[in-house]
Amino acid sequence: MVQLRHAKSLFRFQGVADDRRCGLSCLAFGLRALSRDVRLRWLPVEKREDMEAIMIKPIMRNELLLGMPSEPATEQDVPIGQDLLDTLAAHADSCVGMAANMIGVRKRIIVFDNNGTPELMFNPEIMHASNRFKTEEGCLSLVGVRPCERFRKIHVTYQDASFVRHERSFSGFTAQIIQHEIDHCNGIVI
Ligand SMILES: [Zn+2]
Repeated sequence: MVQLRHAKSLFRFQGVADDRRCGLSCLAFGLRALSRDVRLRWLPVEKREDMEAIMIKPIMRNELLLGMPSEPATEQDVPIGQDLLDTLAAHADSCVGMAANMIGVRKRIIVFDNNGTPELMFNPEIMHASNRFKTEEGCLSLVGVRPCERFRKIHVTYQDASFVRHERSFSGFTAQIIQHEIDHCNGIVI
């Protein structure tokens, strides 16, 4: 994970303040130090209000609340999925995935960047996983990085925004992001 190590050293070098830091997975990948929510504050008020209308939510950083498992999502929770997509887009240069509890909603909903395409899953579950490896990750909700174990390949079931069930396989970095976000749904923070 060369990119992750590089990102880590970049944080230190730039001494980014707590509320301005990049997460690594919630997984930081773009290596800019300033996330978009910081840049929003520098925009003229009229523009800022336009952008806030797309429901960018504040990021939850309370580890006690992040440590609580989330409830199954229902069709009433579909708007939360859109808020998550908007909030992920707002952090796109520092973050590649989010779970609903990161915006303060304890429902099993995740979003992630699948090779450049944002995807949304309701009630995701890993059915099979293979090829375990050791790595380290950061999180938009946390400071720094932590060691963890992931699987290179996973098979996942989930429901889409119409609550139609799907089964799909993922590998590589996308699989890693999904595992990180499903952990959030289970109250596990790296
Ligand atoms: Zn995270």
